[in-house]
Amino acid sequence: MQGLMQNKQLLISTLIEHAGLNHPEVQIVSRTCEGTIHRTNYATLRKRAKQLAKALLALGIESGDRVGTLAWNTYRHQELYFAVPGMGAVLHTINPRLFADQIEYIIQHAEDTVLFFDITFSTLLEPLLPKLKHVRAFIALCDIDQLPQNIPNCLSYEQLLREQNDEFEWPEFAETQAASLCYTSGTTGNPKGVLYSHRSTLLHAFTVCTVDGLQLSRKDCVLLAVPMFHVNAWGFPYAAAMCGAKVCFPAAQIDAASLCELAAQEQCTMSIGVPTVWLSVMDYLEHHPEKTKQLNINRIVMGGSATPRALIDRIQNNLNATTIQAWGMTETSPMGTIGNLLPEHMALEQSERFDIQSKQGRAIYGVEIRVIDDHGQVLARDGVSAGHLQVRGPWIVSAYFKADEQNILDAHGWFSTGDIACISAEGYLQITDRSKDVIKSGGEWISSIDLENTAVAHPAIQEAAVIGLNHSKWQERPLLVAIKRPDMQIDEQELIHFLSKRVAKWWLPDDVVFVQSLPHTATGKLQKNVLREQFKDFVFSSDRS
Ligand code: ADP
Repeated sequence: MQGLMQNKQLLISTLIEHAGLNHPEVQIVSRTCEGTIHRTNYATLRKRAKQLAKALLALGIESGDRVGTLAWNTYRHQELYFAVPGMGAVLHTINPRLFADQIEYIIQHAEDTVLFFDITFSTLLEPLLPKLKHVRAFIALCDIDQLPQNIPNCLSYEQLLREQNDEFEWPEFAETQAASLCYTSGTTGNPKGVLYSHRSTLLHAFTVCTVDGLQLSRKDCVLLAVPMFHVNAWGFPYAAAMCGAKVCFPAAQIDAASLCELAAQEQCTMSIGVPTVWLSVMDYLEHHPEKTKQLNINRIVMGGSATPRALIDRIQNNLNATTIQAWGMTETSPMGTIGNLLPEHMALEQSERFDIQSKQGRAIYGVEIRVIDDHGQVLARDGVSAGHLQVRGPWIVSAYFKADEQNILDAHGWFSTGDIACISAEGYLQITDRSKDVIKSGGEWISSIDLENTAVAHPAIQEAAVIGLNHSKWQERPLLVAIKRPDMQIDEQELIHFLSKRVAKWWLPDDVVFVQSLPHTATGKLQKNVLREQFKDFVFSSDRS
């Protein structure tokens, strides 16, 4: 027997309708690419999204067409977030930090029909123009007097909007229709396309707004320090419209001073971003204590790579804000687990709470997680048995866009994440490594993430990477490659001594190398494959005869 409730589809257009009508005056604040502050609100966002939807139709965009963006976090990009899927097309946000040939590859692979771009990206775009054979129009996110000269025949976004009024009814279609497309960074092989649906996007947004999720609400003013070309800015533009939260967009100014200035000026209550952003923010604030007093941030959501415990401590004790660590990936929309404390943890000592917050969090409703061994056996939730992390749920990928290999799930619908993890009895996930980075020493695994986090707890260490290299006796041993903080002194012996107090003896790196910089991917993750290549001829001191 069927239920007798309305089968109203979960469409992205319903979010902007809701926000425009129920939270019309809530502000949306952006730095523009020129550095000035622009203010709008949900009522205007709704109107302009409708004008934009009509402009897309006038350009000949049809349902299912891919619309590319090369853009920073601004209100115009937010308009595209609603108008493109709202009118039935697919928003394809392109990461401008990828190599030019990867950008070309994904625009071609997505078969983008039009491309919206911030004028700061016109030099990046220019050499690609002759190669982008599917793109029918290039639209600069600016007014007509600012059109870049080096992109022939490009159109002005503001002019396109001026040509349309806002009398527009959003079309109704199945919630399973594609809404947006993001490509993985592709550290090995070509980037792969993850195609989100309206339904997956809305279910994900509900989670961000739940109290035991990320508690986003109308009370919040959220600073988006995650780029909108990175997994839909973790779904926050959609979740913010759902609950009517005020949003602040930093555009390209994501340096610590600019972020702090915007957060202080707008009295942001929360922010989201990768740990490296918060490391630099905390460095900045510790040098400018007067700026800390101007801030009103009560929580920071961090993900994308492991959050060092020392950073959680600094944020709590110097900024009086709570760190909520989340784990996810492009394939998981991205929220998979969220690291809230449970009521029973409130009575714990602060340091014990930091231990829990250093883990990647618990599964949120909708996402199932498990770890399996090499033979497919499910491992116990005992906090020590580490294995391959698998996930499934309504906002987890089922297949990659236009991929030859369509079988990426096992027979029971589980997706293998490529992460090595364990799960505690309380359900907290702990990522110990990516499977390709794991260090196998004498048949046992050493967690490079644990070692890195412990190393950066030393005040003289700015960043650390641990890789496994061949060893004649142990198969592999860890090498620690570290960057010193400016003006700080430390040598190998002191660092090893520091680590020896905190990790098992057999985990201690055999050698430490200090460097000036470490290689990162376009999403700010350590590129361990590059580092392993760089050190492939390295011979450990313990292995020299
Ligand atoms: P994204 O582009 O969202 O960062 P990727 O697919 O490039 O997603 O990377 C996802 C990977 O990032 C995960 O598989 C995991 O290895 C790592 N990751 C994400 N969040 C965390 C976290 N909180 N702690 C440790 N690793 C994380």
